[in-house]
This record gives sequence, structure tokens and C-alpha cells, in this order.
Amino acid sequence: MNLEQAELALKNWFGYDHFRPLQWDVINAIYQGNDALVLMPTGGGKSICFQIPAITMDGMTLVISPLISLMKDQVESLKANGIAAAFINSSQSITEQAEVEQKVLSNDIKLLYVSPEKLVSGSFMPLLRACKLRLLAIDEAHCISSWGHDFRPEYTQLKFLRSEFPDVPFIALTATADKLTREDIKAQLGITEAKTFLSSFDRPNFTMEVRQGIKKIPQIVSYAKSRNDESGIVYCISRKATESLAESLKAAGLSADFYHAGMKVEDRDRVQEDFINDRLQIVCATIAFGMGIDKSNVRYVIHHNLPQSIENYYQEIGRAGRDGLAADTILFYSLNDVATYHFLFEKDQVGDPSEKSLKYTKLERMLEYAQSMLCRRKILLNYFSEDYPGNCGKCDICKNPPKFFDATIETQKALSAVARTNQRVGIGLLIDILRGSNKKEIIVKKYHQIKTYGAGGDLSAFDWKFLIQQMIQLGVFEIAYHSGNQLRIGTLGKEILTGKQRINLARPTELIQKIKEQKTKGGSKSKSKTKAVLSAIDVDLFQKLRSLRRHIAKAAGVPPYVVFSDASLQEMSQQRPVTKPEFSLISGVGEKKLEKYGPAFMGVIREYVAATA
Ligand code: ADP
Ligand code: MG
Ligand code: ZN
Repeated sequence: MNLEQAELALKNWFGYDHFRPLQWDVINAIYQGNDALVLMPTGGGKSICFQIPAITMDGMTLVISPLISLMKDQVESLKANGIAAAFINSSQSITEQAEVEQKVLSNDIKLLYVSPEKLVSGSFMPLLRACKLRLLAIDEAHCISSWGHDFRPEYTQLKFLRSEFPDVPFIALTATADKLTREDIKAQLGITEAKTFLSSFDRPNFTMEVRQGIKKIPQIVSYAKSRNDESGIVYCISRKATESLAESLKAAGLSADFYHAGMKVEDRDRVQEDFINDRLQIVCATIAFGMGIDKSNVRYVIHHNLPQSIENYYQEIGRAGRDGLAADTILFYSLNDVATYHFLFEKDQVGDPSEKSLKYTKLERMLEYAQSMLCRRKILLNYFSEDYPGNCGKCDICKNPPKFFDATIETQKALSAVARTNQRVGIGLLIDILRGSNKKEIIVKKYHQIKTYGAGGDLSAFDWKFLIQQMIQLGVFEIAYHSGNQLRIGTLGKEILTGKQRINLARPTELIQKIKEQKTKGGSKSKSKTKAVLSAIDVDLFQKLRSLRRHIAKAAGVPPYVVFSDASLQEMSQQRPVTKPEFSLISGVGEKKLEKYGPAFMGVIREYVAATA
């Protein structure tokens, strides 16, 4: 099997013209009979690495996958492409399982998906020994390592497989890159000689933006409205926050719901199903949401709170834009979140001290990311030991590079106010004092009588927050996390207060300006931006194709993206294919889908072309 033949199979079965970087290298290694460890980011295209060998080799490929919902989606997607795939797990009746087993024995299945629990159950191994096993794929392989963050005890049972099938190539796949986990996966699976394929973790289709965590709800509402009826996830720090945010979004007329581990299984399943099937647009969720979701058209991921680590953050934003189309990620951060984590880490009695200190370190790195004035993509990739030359041009810092100014006066005002309250205020109250607020707390504590009260009325609360956060980063202030986040004057602060030092800070940029504009204009700015992108591909036709897709998917009982991805529909609305040869050129159109869906989609396109000609 050479590259040309493999690419032909890729086009025939999946409708894609070319392999993505590393896919062919992995596939080739498998053809040569090697074991492989594949590290690619979420959405990088790991599945193709074992699916192409599975389809083109004789015999069967076994895929071990930790989540039943994922399994079902993947099998449905394969079937939609005419590939003989099936799964066996505990969600099926005995009869259903027996039917699949029969097909396996008669050599009618190319790809069999199974959960680790099922694999180690007594009845399964005889079946596996009886069939012609050619390849074994372990998806989400980091679950085998207790170093990783999704450790699953059942996965450790996979150890016996290597000795059971010494001649079958193994391929382990994961999006968790760190070196410790990597080595552990190989050791645990007994594939120490496996070739490692490490792809870039960059996701060039993402934008990245960090915003101040104040007035978050109006910002989220305005953003979500600007994205019309597209899918998005908003991650929140607590269960309660997911519920109240979903409530606010619904009140603003948006299609939103919440998801967290405290809900009944049926409710969780319903929310997840509605989201996957495009019946629900926004899910406000804790980190419990997402692992079982392969939905390719999530157009944005918002973090309502700071994530606990960069690993978590990257995995969560990774759920956006799996189809490779543009996707936005927005992170709101506030030092309150840091305090919440400190509280949670301290409360957690079980963890050993080194684990606790690791948590603090990871949180610290996350905070540094949020506060950084450098290209965000550069910092993220750097964190995963990847060098990113130059700047990305797509993050907020690249789009609005910070401009520094002499902020000595502003800093002195803030310092003086803090000193005059005997260092008993946090950021919020400090801003209120500086801006001369009439809040009850100010009056009760007599802060309206101190000299700096109202001395900073020329700046907005947004601007002040932006400046104070930088002051904290630089050591003007320290935060007493254990006494209500009060600000304490740091060493640098003392020098500035006494006039021995001056200080430069990044000027509150157009970013702040933009947020303000969005607030007054109700998000008109970003709205026009999405429209501009869409008009190039004909929004009306795109919507018509989407509605056809929804119809077909509903009738077949599969999620819409199993029929065609957003990327395919966009290309159709641009290229307007009306003949079979034209239609087959669209990315994502393989032989099966050409035959099955081509006529209906071309029908809509023809009608549209005729009506608008
Ligand atoms: P991962 O498992 O790495 O998160 P998937 O295997 O689910 O990613 O692939 C993500 C998306 O990319 C899927 O929609 C898949 O069909 C698509 N894809 C994979 N390989 C290619 C390719 N060579 N060309 C175009 N699209 C691809
Ligand atoms: Mg995958
Ligand atoms: Zn950048």
C-alpha cells in the first residue's frame, strides 16, 4: 500500500483529498507492522490514522474507546460513509450484542469499537481469538496512565493484550502531550518500542482572547447573539454558576441549558443529545462536559472563569472548531477565581503535599497566561514544549499590541487609597473608592472621607481593573488570598508611593474600547464581522443546505454533522455543484455520501441557482 493508494481510499471513503501532517506517516508505520503512539491535539484527525489501515487491510481492527457516547457517534459516522463498523458495549441488549458477534465471526466487520469493561469481561476474549484481528487501536490512551488527568482503572486491564496478540500492531492515540504520560502509556501497554508521532499542537483556526472578568453576562449575551444560531460551550467554575448563567442567557432569548455532574443521568444525556443534534445552541457547563463529545461544529468556547491549569484550558478550547473552520475562544478571568481555587485546594484534605503544590504551580502558569502581554499562541505552545516562531496575528494581543505609558500617577492614587484604608480593601472596593462610588459599604466604612476618594473618576472601572491587575503582577500590590483578597502594598509599591520609582503600564487598549462599544451598540461590531465571513459563501444557500441536513439527520436518527460537516456545506454553497463529478469534488463527499445524499443536496442547489439567476 503506497501513499497514492491510501489517498485514493481517503477520497473514496471519507471524501478528503489529502492527509493532514503525520497521518500518512502513522498509517505507513502500521502497514509496516510497527506499533505507534500518536499525539495530536483534539480535532487533529487521529481517527483516520487507524481507520484507513482498518479499511484497506484484510481482517478486523479493534478500537478500544472509553466512552459509550463517543463510540456510537464514531460508528454512525463510519456507517454513513458506507464502512462496516459496529460497537459492543453494555448499552446494548444481549440480542443486539449477539448479532454483532455473529457479524464479527463471519468476517463482516472492519472496525469493532469496544469499551474497556467489555473487553476484559470473560465472554469477549474468545470472540477476539476467533476472529482475524489485524490492528488494535487504543483511543484516549492517556486514560491508562495515572499521571494523566482522566485516569480510568479499567484501562490498566489492557496490559495483558500485548502478550495475547504479539504479532498485531498496536496504535495508541491521545491529545495529552506531556512526556511523563507519554512514556507511561508505552510502558503500561507493553509497547516500549512503539514509534512516537508528535504533531504540532497548534490549532490555527482558533482566535484567542482574554477579557476582564467584569460584567460578564452582558458580554456573553452580546457575543452569543452575534453568532446567530451557532453552537457554543461556556465553561463555569461551579455547578451553581452553570445554572444561573443558563438562566440569564435564556432570559435574553438565547437557546441555552446547563450541564454538570450533579444532575440526573437522564437530564445530562438529554442536554448532551440536544446539543449534539443542534436542537440546543449553548451549554453552560462544568468541566464534566465535553469528554464524550465529537461534535465538529462547535463555533466558540467561552471560559466564564479561569481554568485550573493550561492543560485543562487547552483541552476545553480544543472542543471548538474540530471541522477546521474558524472558531473563537474567549477567556474571562478575575482574581476571584484564583481565590476560589486556593480555597478548594486547601479544603481538599486527601491530596498529598506534592500534589497540592503542583496544583498551585499549574494555576500560577494559567494566571500568567491570562495576564500576559505576549502572543497567546506562543505562550500556549511553549507550555507544551513547542517553539512558535513569530506572532500568530490571531490572538487579542497580536491584534491589539499593548502600548505602555507612564502610569506613576495612577499607581500612586491606587496606593494612597489602599494605604488610607489600612490595606483592608480588595480590587472591587478600591475601584469604587477611586471612582467615587456611593455604595453603601463605602459610606458605612467612611471611605468617602479619605483623600483619594473620587480621584480616579476619569477612568472607567474596566480601565482601573486592567491597570490594577498589572500593578499586582509587577509587585506593586500583593493579594492576601486568605483574608478576603485584600490588597497589601508590596515592595515596589512602597517605592512608588514615596516617589523613589516610576512605573510603566500597558494602556487599557482598544480591547477595552471594543467591549464598551459592544455594550452600547449591542454587539453590532462582531455581528457584522460574522456576516462578512458568511456573505462570501452565500448565507441563504448555506441555511437552506443546513435545513436539508437537519431533515435528513432527523429522519436517520443521527447528528447533523454525521451527514455532512459545516465545512462541506460551506464549500457547497460556494462552489454550487450540480453534477455528480462536481459534487464529488467537495471535501467530505466520499462515494457513499455522493450516492446517498448527493441528489437531495444538488436538488436544493439547482433550485436555488434557478431562483436567484
Ligand atoms: P481527534 O480524534 O484527533 O480529536 P478526529 O479524528 O475526530 O480528531 O478528526 C477531527 C475532524 O477532522 C473530523 O471531522 C475528521 O473527519 C476531520 N479530518 C481528519 N482527517 C482529515 C483530512 N485528512 N482532511 C480533512 N478532514 C479531516
Ligand atoms: Mg478522537
Ligand atoms: Zn498571537
